[in-house]
Amino acid sequence: MNSLMTKPMKRNIDLLVIGAGMAGLCAATYAQKAGRKVVVIDKGRGLGGRMATRRISGATFDHGAQFVTARHPRFAALLEEARAAGAATEWCKGFSGNPDGHPRWRGTPGMTAIARYLALSLEIVQERQVTALRLNGNDWNAEMADGETWSASAVILTAPVPQSLVLLDKGGVTLSAEMMQRLSAIKYERCLAVMAVLDGPSGLPAPGGFAPESGPIAWIADNQLKGVSVEPAITLHATHEFSIAHWDKDREETARLLLDAAAPWLSAGVKTAQVHGWRFSKPMQVDAQTCAIISSEPPLILAGDAFCGSRVEGAALSGWASVEAVLASNPQ
Ligand SMILES: Cc1cc2nc3c(=O)[nH]c(=O)nc-3n(C[C@H](O)[C@H](O)[C@H](O)COP(=O)(O)OP(=O)(O)OC[C@H]3O[C@@H](n4cnc5c(N)ncnc54)[C@H](O)[C@@H]3O)c2cc1C
Repeated sequence: MNSLMTKPMKRNIDLLVIGAGMAGLCAATYAQKAGRKVVVIDKGRGLGGRMATRRISGATFDHGAQFVTARHPRFAALLEEARAAGAATEWCKGFSGNPDGHPRWRGTPGMTAIARYLALSLEIVQERQVTALRLNGNDWNAEMADGETWSASAVILTAPVPQSLVLLDKGGVTLSAEMMQRLSAIKYERCLAVMAVLDGPSGLPAPGGFAPESGPIAWIADNQLKGVSVEPAITLHATHEFSIAHWDKDREETARLLLDAAAPWLSAGVKTAQVHGWRFSKPMQVDAQTCAIISSEPPLILAGDAFCGSRVEGAALSGWASVEAVLASNPQ
């Protein structure tokens, strides 16, 4: 192909969902059941976004969301479906020192299994980054990093809000002052996550997760006790304050500092460790609406955990709410 030619547009998409995290996958499955032709696009290699599972040296780690809780009956029903399909199970009913009796769910084997279950019936395009969203007549154009442009009658955008705002800005989408103020107020915590393969059982008590009351560590999980990893493997989540202070520092040194802080709870040595930085870990404040309607004609909706609660369940509820907004403004 002549390198000067623009790549062809992909057309006939009723709804383009940007992001294959919980919000995007719940939105896409719901819209598809409502009869829409849906395509999901994600820049990542895996599914699930912040509901992430990774393998290192034969060990498996949940290094983003650790568990899921269900307060809303619709989300509880989804977890039951995932359980019936072998993609989710109850981990425990609370953690050391605080067993409150409320079920904590996990994916089987890891958290991404829930995303993979939701993705089964969907058309999902991975490793494609959207760089701008632009209005084009009665459609939205999603411009990709590789130069391709996709056109859709409606778009649901589920990236963390600051990233979504960049896509709108690059595509010349102007927001009202009120909407801009509302969305730019949504800030996120950062989280440095250490994944460490151990040379023996961690020594953490069952069920393998707890939140220290002080120090640089917000959360410690034993992926082996949890049932995620065959090999002994722990995940450490640093506090927001520690993560901000060490974000640009050497990651090996950061891992060492956090593993030293975890040492009083560990009875095994570390074979190898890696650090992952979550720049947009959890929203610090949640918007008052279930999603943000940027345009209703043609529909462009922002959804995700910033709208219905800073958890996996909140992301799911916001994804469903965003589809209601599309169906209301664009009935077929
Ligand atoms: C360390 C950590 C621990 C957590 N612990 C818990 C917990 O125990 N329980 C709980 O309920 N929640 C927890 N959470 C929060 C939970 O993970 C999130 O609330 C939820 O997963 C958010 O889902 P989402 O779909 O809104 O966003 P995401 O999961 O972030 O999905 C957004 C998707 O959009 C994609 N994307 C972004 N920009 C683009 C682009 N330009 N082009 C294409 N694709 C793009 C991303 O790749 C991503 O897959 C935790 C989060 C972190 C980081």
